Amino acid sequence: MATIMAARGQGLEQDFDFFVVVDFEATCVKDARIFPQEIIEFPAVLVDGATGRIESAFRRYVRPKHHPVLTQFCRELTGIRQEDVDGGVDLGEALWLHDAWLKAATAGAGNKRSVRLAVVTWGDWDCRTMLEFECRFKGIEKPSYFDQWINLRVPFQAALGGGGRVNLQEAVRAAGLDWEGRLHCGLDDARNTARLLAELMRRGVKITITGSLAAPPPMQKQPARTSPCGGSPALASAPPPIQQQPAPYMISPCGGSSATCLCYCGLASRGDVMHGKCFSGCASWSRPWDPCPPTSRGA
Ligand code: AMP
Ligand code: MG
Ligand code: MG
Repeated sequence: MATIMAARGQGLEQDFDFFVVVDFEATCVKDARIFPQEIIEFPAVLVDGATGRIESAFRRYVRPKHHPVLTQFCRELTGIRQEDVDGGVDLGEALWLHDAWLKAATAGAGNKRSVRLAVVTWGDWDCRTMLEFECRFKGIEKPSYFDQWINLRVPFQAALGGGGRVNLQEAVRAAGLDWEGRLHCGLDDARNTARLLAELMRRGVKITITGSLAAPPPMQKQPARTSPCGGSPALASAPPPIQQQPAPYMISPCGGSSATCLCYCGLASRGDVMHGKCFSGCASWSRPWDPCPPTSRGA
């Protein structure tokens, strides 16, 4: 939980030497799910953990394998052109290039100890859902620093409050900053997230890890159904012990129709759409933080 220093305007020592802010853009269609969804822009912005200064930036466009032709909706939403992704690398190479950039940009820091680094995103989708799903689906290994992250929405809400759920652009403006660049351009989203991070640091907010693949997502309201997995009457009537009972997990926005609601693994889920979001998986779905293995659909 973020803590705010009594003396506002005074920076607080952070637990990290660097923050690396990422904001993936991915294939999409209007008002429906696309399966498998694939990352098409991989941007990152490196922020000095002591000063809040942006030190370096990285971007690679990524060529989607399963839906190589972007929809008009996706091009208009993200500003990414067909030729950008046609000339892009695959996700494994983007991860490798990102890692090499990060190592070079942080070399020399840390003074004999290893560099303390934390990934920052706006929301949990980038690390918990998108990157994790695509890497599992395609059998790609990713660096372990992506397995935990700071969802900047958490310290933002702790510091600036506000009742409703704001998007990144609204949060940037609520913090007194101008929005720079184009919303849904991954690099611009990452830059603005980095500027918001620096502003929170400047206000003395302690920035700590908020999410991890090793831990379940924060508890949300339980839906009426008993068990989100298995589907057998025996399982449904005998819920697992409390510590194994997964919190209902918002798999993905599905446009409010159970007909388009898909499990994490891409198979049809068994329904349960609440407020336009899926809360259940397919028959083999087990724990929300441990998605189904790639199915027969293959990578
Ligand atoms: P963002 O970081 O908010 O720009 O969004 C990340 C990704 O989420 C986009 O690249 C799209 O794949 C998807 N996305 C965001 N907004 C929408 C939308 N209104 N409709 C469909 N997909 C969206
Ligand atoms: Mg985003
Ligand atoms: Mg974005």
